[in-house]
Amino acid sequence: MSSLLNIYNMLLNYWGPQNWWPGETIDEICIGAILTQNTTWNNVERALQNLKSKHLLSISSIALAPEETIEECLKPAGTYRRKTQYLINFSQKIVSQLGKIEKLFLMEPNKARKWLLGLKGIGPETADSILCYGGNLPFLVIDAYTLRLGKRMGWLNSKTKSYENVQEILQRELPKDPQVLGEFHALIVKHSKEICRKRPRCNSCFMKDCCNAGKQNIY
Ligand code: SF4
Repeated sequence: MSSLLNIYNMLLNYWGPQNWWPGETIDEICIGAILTQNTTWNNVERALQNLKSKHLLSISSIALAPEETIEECLKPAGTYRRKTQYLINFSQKIVSQLGKIEKLFLMEPNKARKWLLGLKGIGPETADSILCYGGNLPFLVIDAYTLRLGKRMGWLNSKTKSYENVQEILQRELPKDPQVLGEFHALIVKHSKEICRKRPRCNSCFMKDCCNAGKQNIY
């Protein structure tokens, strides 16, 4: 089996840099990471645009904004009432306990992660997106695409389930470099949307020779 770093290089050579995470400021990246749960990025962009048009695209302004105003802005992002609660709570906790988000990224990384996971509505995927793309800290984001590709390729076996377990297995083989880890997650998403889809296009996949499922013609 090819090493994970070889796979990373293959993906990068084929797809090129994905320039994640979209966002002009650290605040915008973190807000986007919370809003993207269970929806498409297009919907998140519409919600971000609504916040921007009301001068609310920052953690400090969301912390002080009326709930109804945030709800109105987040409508395109789905489950907007719940997301409003999560976003306001996140913003208020950042402001009241840390002052600003940059302080979170100065904490010991695992403590910062634990702090985020203690907030309502912030699970491991969202926490790691905030830490990796917002804070430039070495955490690989694991999502459903990672699990599916990992099992097909043979990096993970069918019993590997827990988020932290998967993350540990994959990070063990990759440099502890936030740029590499952030790019790798973005490339997995790209490859999974374009080729290794629900119904994978193995015959046109450049990774077929190093993929368990591809070599066995499972699909
Ligand atoms: S060979 Fe098939 S299963 Fe393997 S990565 Fe490519 S598309 Fe996915």
